[in-house]
Amino acid sequence: MAKHKKLEDYREQIEQCVKCGACQAHCPVFGEHKRESIVARGKVALAHALLNDEVKLDERLVEDMSKCLMCASCFDKCPNLVPTDEIVAAARREIADQQGLSTFGKALTTVIKNPRLMNTLAKSGKAFSALLFKKVPEQSGLRLRFPLPFVSRERSIPEIAAKPFRERHPEVIPGEAGKPTVAFFTGCMINYMYPEIGDALLKILKFMGVTVLIPGDQGCCGLPAISAGDSATVEELSKRNLAALTRRTPDVILTACATCNEGIGRHFKHLEGEYAAMAEKVMDMNVFLVRHGLDKLLAELPRKAVFQRVTYHDPCHLRTQGITKEPRALLRALPGVRFVDMEGADRCCGLGGTFSVYHYDTSKLIGARKVPGIEQSGADLVATACPGCMMQLQDTINHAGLKPRVIHLLELIAHDLPA
Ligand code: SF4
Ligand code: SF4
Repeated sequence: MAKHKKLEDYREQIEQCVKCGACQAHCPVFGEHKRESIVARGKVALAHALLNDEVKLDERLVEDMSKCLMCASCFDKCPNLVPTDEIVAAARREIADQQGLSTFGKALTTVIKNPRLMNTLAKSGKAFSALLFKKVPEQSGLRLRFPLPFVSRERSIPEIAAKPFRERHPEVIPGEAGKPTVAFFTGCMINYMYPEIGDALLKILKFMGVTVLIPGDQGCCGLPAISAGDSATVEELSKRNLAALTRRTPDVILTACATCNEGIGRHFKHLEGEYAAMAEKVMDMNVFLVRHGLDKLLAELPRKAVFQRVTYHDPCHLRTQGITKEPRALLRALPGVRFVDMEGADRCCGLGGTFSVYHYDTSKLIGARKVPGIEQSGADLVATACPGCMMQLQDTINHAGLKPRVIHLLELIAHDLPA
């Protein structure tokens, strides 16, 4: 059973917080609001007080717990490794259990646990796209023409795919004998909004001779439901993904989305038995490609006379797992790319999934802090490895009126590979 920990189960870790305040410098939300109850130490103190019945689950506490991107930057820098993001998630489960889900939380989790509904919504969204959205002038993305619940009209969003990625490809794409078999966990954004990322990955894996499984019955990684505190939906999705992804016993379960990697990787490790065993097979595509020598193969390709200047944004869900060298190794090896690291590459983009829905203004402020680094890099393209970060960075770039376009690293690799 994919059971979640209760807030009480974190008591020991909560009590390991020595209130040193080292997390202050690394919490993007505290950086904007400078309120003690928002920083990791404050949230941990609130969780402790909640456990000891010293505070009530009132509106203020619920609001403070909602002001977390679950970026784990605090955990990454905490000398005592207090897992604030997990503690916040457990507190949100406590809130949802006692008060029910928010309207947005309910709507979101109803959709993500129902693939048929998600397909129908995506197809209707595509059919009415011209009516609902307008193009962002001279930049990538769309904006809503009129208000819709939960989406700001100021936000640039990617176009919905004409056909979901998983419907465009067979479930099994055979590779060469002796090469690994990978199950590709596409995640929702690649399936419905950025199928070109999935296409790029397939081209690369074909070049490497890898056999690819694309289970049609996989579901959302569950992170939006974790963030909303909806444990029942997370458990349902965990079961579906476990069954879908292990059906044909792949060597590796590959993700091309940092958030999905966190959802079916790090999160599954907290669950029991077969869930935790599955999580051991989950691998981010950067790690897989470098482990199989793609960077070396790319470096042997003839250099191109005309190159693009590319910088890289570290998605929090990869950075906090220490996955920072691999994407840079791939970028440096590309024959058509001149890689330039930017100031603040490791700074959160401000999306935080549902955070940016509840707190779009704060999300924009956090995103805006990436602008000087992007500008100073002089990059033509900002590459990253998370479709969520792509959406947020493109939104930031559009608001700042900058020229660079945001791209997934896999698209750059696929572009430079021989046809
Ligand atoms: S969460 Fe960690 S870094 Fe923050 S105050 Fe507590 S011990 Fe220090
Ligand atoms: S997870 Fe991120 S946003 Fe949440 S408290 Fe930690 S640093 Fe702040």
